[in-house]
Amino acid sequence: MLQNNLDPEVAEHPDKLVVYGGTGRAARDWASFDAMVRTLRTLKQDETMLVQSGRPVGVMQTHEWAPRVLLANSNLVGDWANWEEFRRLEHLGLTMYGQMTAGSWIYIGTQGILQGTYETFAAVAAKKFGGTLAGTITLTAGLGGMGGAQPLAVTMNDGVALCIDCDPRAIERRIEHRYLDVRADSLDHALQLAVEARDARRPLSIGVLGNAAELVPQLLAMNAPIDIVTDQTSAHDPLAYLPIGVPFDEMAMYAAEKPADFTTRARESMAKHVEAMVGFQDAGAEVFDYGNSIRGEAQLAGYTRAFDFPGFVPAYIRPLFCEGKGPFRWAALSGDPKDIAATDRAILDLFPENESLARWIRMAGERVHFQGLPARICWLGYGERDRAGERFNDMVASGELSAPVVIGRDHLDCGSVASPYRETEAMLDGSDAIADWPLLNAMVNVASGASWVSIHHGGGVGMGRSIHAGQVTVADGTALAGEKIRRVLTNDPGMGVIRHVDAGYDIAETVAEDRGVRIPMREE
Ligand code: NAD
Repeated sequence: MLQNNLDPEVAEHPDKLVVYGGTGRAARDWASFDAMVRTLRTLKQDETMLVQSGRPVGVMQTHEWAPRVLLANSNLVGDWANWEEFRRLEHLGLTMYGQMTAGSWIYIGTQGILQGTYETFAAVAAKKFGGTLAGTITLTAGLGGMGGAQPLAVTMNDGVALCIDCDPRAIERRIEHRYLDVRADSLDHALQLAVEARDARRPLSIGVLGNAAELVPQLLAMNAPIDIVTDQTSAHDPLAYLPIGVPFDEMAMYAAEKPADFTTRARESMAKHVEAMVGFQDAGAEVFDYGNSIRGEAQLAGYTRAFDFPGFVPAYIRPLFCEGKGPFRWAALSGDPKDIAATDRAILDLFPENESLARWIRMAGERVHFQGLPARICWLGYGERDRAGERFNDMVASGELSAPVVIGRDHLDCGSVASPYRETEAMLDGSDAIADWPLLNAMVNVASGASWVSIHHGGGVGMGRSIHAGQVTVADGTALAGEKIRRVLTNDPGMGVIRHVDAGYDIAETVAEDRGVRIPMREE
């Protein structure tokens, strides 16, 4: 999975060890990568390799239930947890940015985010547009590793997507992978294509080259008939957001040579971008932050209305988190797409009552282009993930799958992250910044038998703004793997249920009661 994260089909910049999300890396440097691969090849069943921000620092004797790898990436002590200090340490070769699934080796390409994005746009459609995006135009920016899922997620919901990116390669890549339909020649051309498709209620996604900080305000000034606005540029890292007036070709060199200057200009540009988003909200559009911290950065530049629109989690996703639902994913180590087709059938067979899940699995089977190892994602909750995992392990044991499968998830999950601008924004009890939960999550996954467990800082929203944990468990068809999978895939989503019970969410309380999640403070 470490190598898969860096497969040229999967990673955004494999030569620099960058997987996705700005500078999210799989290993600190090539010497560390080689040492990790060499160590993993000889690691025994009772040994554990320790990874400190992308560099293997030790191998210790543990036991066969212990994880084979433990990773801690990008963590800094509170008062030092800012980009300046992080970059100073990174420059000295002492740390790396692990993002969420880059440094924890469970990135599966753009599909990883596709279903979450599809679910979010489905929730927008349900909330405001009668259950479909047909006849609507969504405006967004950022067609990178994650943001590239947006156009396909919108067209899967039958809408029209107008997507801005300043990197022509990002646009071409999404077209090549069939996530984006067409590239427009200019902003006027893009809008004309969008309006024609919207009037015909025909799904269409359109890429347009340019700087979102300029084009979004221009569209507002043109009174463009936009229904939904969001953004997935790499705003969490001001050195990865193109400031107004800087040619794209000069971006990397300018960021490297004058980081402070670049940061100030990027934040000022983000303020203009966010101001236009608020303008669209004032004009009646549905506007939300898509988890990239652009509101926080705009606020730092002095724009006072940055938080006038909500983040996507409180707006659409939290009820799912209360049920322990989140981005469950798996990859076929055989490399054979037939193995994923077989697991797709198993999911349809296991959860016949869940129609939206079935719709997703069928559409994904038809439309998702695999990058690197064939993989699948679907959102499953407490009481569901363990059933799926155990079935997959049985399928490996019986030979129905030709090789083991790894089962993991994004760090963006129900009980694994503290991130006040994103996953834990506006918690009912005000506990947004309490970071005990992701640490407990990592510890319970270690105690339950996960194959590798990670604790990261700063993923998604940037330094100082999040702490999160991940687990991956290998289904190799053995009875021992079956036991580990049952515990890990029960306890991991169980953290989501207890976290939301603790914060006072009724849905979570009902789930805990109905499905037997023990909450000591509620027992006699
Ligand atoms: P990425 O670095 O792969 O892509 C970012 C894209 O933004 C690039 O293609 C870049 O050219 C473009 N860009 C930068 N500045 C621009 C500007 N001024 N105008 C137009 N385009 C510009 O990043 P990614 O993996 O796609 O992630 C994007 C953001 O979304 C990150 O901040 C990430 O943390 C966040 N994210 C959100 C979620 C979620 O669940 N909502 C999940 C993962 C990541």
